[in-house]
Amino acid sequence: MKIKLLDGTIKEFATPLTVEAIAKELSTSLGKKVVGARINDCQIVDKNFLIQEDITLDLITPSHPDYRLFLNHTLAFLILASVQKISPDTKLGTVSYVPDEKEFRATFLSEPRFTKDDLNKITTTLNKLRKEKITTFAYDKPQIFREIFQNQPFQLAQAEKMWTETGHVHGYQMGETKIVGNQPLLLTIPPLAQFELQQLTGAYWENNAKQPMLQQIHGMIGLSTEDLAQEKAVLQSKREADHRILNQNLEIFGFDPLIGAGLPLWLPNGTIIKEEIKKYLLEKEWEYDYTMVQTPLIGTVGLYKTSGHWDHYRDGMFQPFKSGKESGEEFVLRPMNCPHHIAVYKQNIHSYKDLPIRLAEHALQYRYESSGSLTGLERVRAMELTDSHIFVRPDQVAQEFKNIYQLIQEILKTFDIEVSYLSFSTRDPQDKEKYFPDDKMWNEAEHNMEEVLKELNLNYQKVPGEAAFYGPKLDIQIKTPQNHEITVSTIQLDFLLPRKFDVTYIDKDQTLKHPIMIHRGLIGTYERFIATLLEQTKGVLPLWLAPRQVEIIPVGDAGETYANEVAKLLKQNHIRAHVDTRDERLSWKIREAQTHKIPYQIVLGNKESDTKTITYRRYGSENQVTLPTTEFLELLKTQIKQKK
Ligand code: ATP
Ligand code: ZN
Repeated sequence: MKIKLLDGTIKEFATPLTVEAIAKELSTSLGKKVVGARINDCQIVDKNFLIQEDITLDLITPSHPDYRLFLNHTLAFLILASVQKISPDTKLGTVSYVPDEKEFRATFLSEPRFTKDDLNKITTTLNKLRKEKITTFAYDKPQIFREIFQNQPFQLAQAEKMWTETGHVHGYQMGETKIVGNQPLLLTIPPLAQFELQQLTGAYWENNAKQPMLQQIHGMIGLSTEDLAQEKAVLQSKREADHRILNQNLEIFGFDPLIGAGLPLWLPNGTIIKEEIKKYLLEKEWEYDYTMVQTPLIGTVGLYKTSGHWDHYRDGMFQPFKSGKESGEEFVLRPMNCPHHIAVYKQNIHSYKDLPIRLAEHALQYRYESSGSLTGLERVRAMELTDSHIFVRPDQVAQEFKNIYQLIQEILKTFDIEVSYLSFSTRDPQDKEKYFPDDKMWNEAEHNMEEVLKELNLNYQKVPGEAAFYGPKLDIQIKTPQNHEITVSTIQLDFLLPRKFDVTYIDKDQTLKHPIMIHRGLIGTYERFIATLLEQTKGVLPLWLAPRQVEIIPVGDAGETYANEVAKLLKQNHIRAHVDTRDERLSWKIREAQTHKIPYQIVLGNKESDTKTITYRRYGSENQVTLPTTEFLELLKTQIKQKK
């Protein structure tokens, strides 16, 4: 058999060999270090796995990124061994590793149930077991594994499944503890590894609410004490950057179960941020010759049947509703605004000279996202899209695409948004159901778009099968602290909807032609964009966006009178200032302003009152600066204008 190694070399072996034996053949030290392998860039196996055919082999040693998977699975397995040692009737569940949470998990069912107080006892037992060896087992006769697992219903269920799929059953064991499965384990625990058991929760077997609820222990492991501390620190900073956590102090949005899941409420602070962004975008759209329109949140089902959304997007829509008790007409909440903007275009007759026509709307729309996918503001069911539909002649597509890209780039730069990559989504030519079967039209659209991407010298990843049903698109992707790849801005080319709705313009030769429509999401939805902004800034918003820009903390009576004077002056200049008159100590008020990440904190007492100055501290800096109040005002005005 031929084994291809990662560096491209191909080695020939006469007989089937285990991963460990192959590693030994390559070098003695590799043979000692190897714990498993990744085969053909997908399946991960332990070092006892028998290789029998030609494959690509990526050997896993402690320095390999996949090593943590082994380490975490092994610790989770040792939890099961420990709980079984403490309570021998425990029914064992599964072991798993969640890389995003840097966490191993083990599930089991035990009577009486373990409590949080038992975690220490489990840790002690586990420490005793960590020196023992783990071995593998394999059965190829059902009567054997059915007998062995007769008191272990979850293992039996796994074994039956594996038996049906592969004709044999394998797994790992240590003494009485046996688990069936493919999750690779280390067969010994490295002596320096340090772990911590952190939580005891519940989890349904197979994540199914109709199945029994098992107990679940969560924990973390590092290669050493320092490594564990570092893993914890990384996780902590990732958690702190999550917009849902930041929101707890910043009070930007909320949800209410009686209103409905995924239907966000913009609280006063969030509303300010959103409105400030909107003002800026509207100015930019004006500058780039967009025309604002306003259209209703609903449309008839017929509208979406014509557009094709009814066939292609129905699962993503709220159910239709009737217009009135008697009327049979059915409506839906719009999931997209394209048909509405087409209707606006069609209110007039257009000549070739009128194009491009750029209709824009910051438009509310509703999508029935699955409840499991809802994530704070990042994925919601009610959202406001910074939408536009641009109608162009074929000879204008390239230039218009460039204009749009430039506008998006300029805006993302203002917010300092860190883009992960550009995704160019094309159709999957085999998927005749999703994509209308007009190869000529698709090829032209995809070709046009790719030409422009090349001309702009952009680095992009081509993703076949991800195009919208009406055309190819360019998505601007960012990565969240939770490692989600999400789209912020998007530009989509559409040859289809103008035909479906018979959208036309009168060309030079007096004939009617279909324009090409470009769908454009400037910063995507406010919801997702603000989630991104919070995460990328860790909640430290630039002055122009901060809901409260200046917190004024008065000291003494003279300070309070002067504070009100300064606040009035700032407010007259449209600066969001607030005087903290609460009956609390100065140090408490200062801390509060820090917690809410308010850009400027000013403390005013007798001295400031007498000299008509202010003393400020900028968020994140320890320096205190004293300035004449009028100069402070100018400083704020300049920074706001510069969007800093
Ligand atoms: P996704 O793949 O993220 O579901 P999509 O490709 O369906 O999005 P589009 O129809 O292109 O999205 O929507 C335009 C923009 O709306 C996206 O770029 C994204 O910024 C935003 N968006 C889409 N769905 C949601 C949602 N459920 N919550 C918040 N924003 C969303
Ligand atoms: Zn659209």
